Amino acid sequence: MTSTSAFSALAPYGWDDAWADEFAPYDSEGLIAGRVIRVDRGQCDVATTDGVMRADTAFVTPHDPMRVVCTGDWVAVEPEGNPRYVRAYLPRRTAFVRSTSSQRSEGQILAANIDYAVVAVSLAVELDLGRVERFVALAWESGAQPVIVLTKADLVPDAATLGHLVEDVERAAPGVAVLPVSAATGEGLDVLEAVLSGGTSVLLGQSGAGKSTLANALLGADVMDVQATRDMDGKGRHTTTTRNLLALPGGGVLIDTPGLRGVGLWDAETGVGQVFSEIEELAADCRFHDCAHVAEPGCAVLTAVDSGTLPERRLDSYRKLLRENQRIVAKTDARLRSEIRRDWKRKGAEGRAAMELKRGRQF
Ligand code: GDP
Ligand code: ZN
Repeated sequence: MTSTSAFSALAPYGWDDAWADEFAPYDSEGLIAGRVIRVDRGQCDVATTDGVMRADTAFVTPHDPMRVVCTGDWVAVEPEGNPRYVRAYLPRRTAFVRSTSSQRSEGQILAANIDYAVVAVSLAVELDLGRVERFVALAWESGAQPVIVLTKADLVPDAATLGHLVEDVERAAPGVAVLPVSAATGEGLDVLEAVLSGGTSVLLGQSGAGKSTLANALLGADVMDVQATRDMDGKGRHTTTTRNLLALPGGGVLIDTPGLRGVGLWDAETGVGQVFSEIEELAADCRFHDCAHVAEPGCAVLTAVDSGTLPERRLDSYRKLLRENQRIVAKTDARLRSEIRRDWKRKGAEGRAAMELKRGRQF
């Protein structure tokens, strides 16, 4: 078994004994362990015990978009070479996938190994519980534990109103913690920090929900603004690494990639239905309610393909997209999920204890 101490520099990036076990065979090959902090056109930046390394991803299955290395992956990198190659990535615990809406039928992987999907919901505007539900569904689908953060709590006039808002959201998201916070006053940030210290998080939510402000408050610096400025430069003049994955000062890791923002991109299931509405209409006439349109008798979809009214290619990409969605669900292994949840509960309890302690209460 690999000694943990050799990898202690990776701990702030979320390295644990289980990753060490997964990495052991690569370690004995002399490969270097690291976490992908950014991907960019066939290259990636990897945080390793020897600092940040640029590596080429061509070696790891470039043809399947679900298997492309992404931010958050743990990888085994060659110790030298020009270019130096990523040789493998460790099995993902969770994955955020975008199913592409239009021409391309494959899903696109956006981030991997995320423990907490923090859904930012602004209290400055009227609550849209439907939107909250969509974000939370998306979070569950990835395998991450959703956490709802009600931002801009300082704008709510009184505690009773805030209490009602929290209850409304809690009812819309059973099993999900709802934490009111204010980046302006710092209220609730310590509880959130305690929760997030236990793993890797992403921030989801509508534009204007306060994600950047929250990220900066958690990071204790205007990192997100700084990054945005660099991104806009676009001329490669900044040699400094732009990181989409950052270690939080209070523990834990925050991933923020451009593609991870905004719900429009995210409606995986409804997306499939919308894009292939004609197939779903046909399917309503299949003899069997749960027809898979493969070889079932009385399948209206296959009949349409036979008669030429539905192009076979269309059915193929529909199937492919459904498969991608199933793969996401398959990733969300039940055991893993309950482990994450248990861990989260512990963190939540610790966070509450910290809060109580801060208030000087006995508990
Ligand atoms: P993003 O689009 O989700 O990244 O949202 P931003 O972080 O850019 O914030 C949107 C707006 O909300 C900005 O004008 C912020 O100043 C404001 N905002 C963010 N957090 C708070 C807060 O805790 N309290 C108040 N009153 N305003 C906030
Ligand atoms: Zn059918």
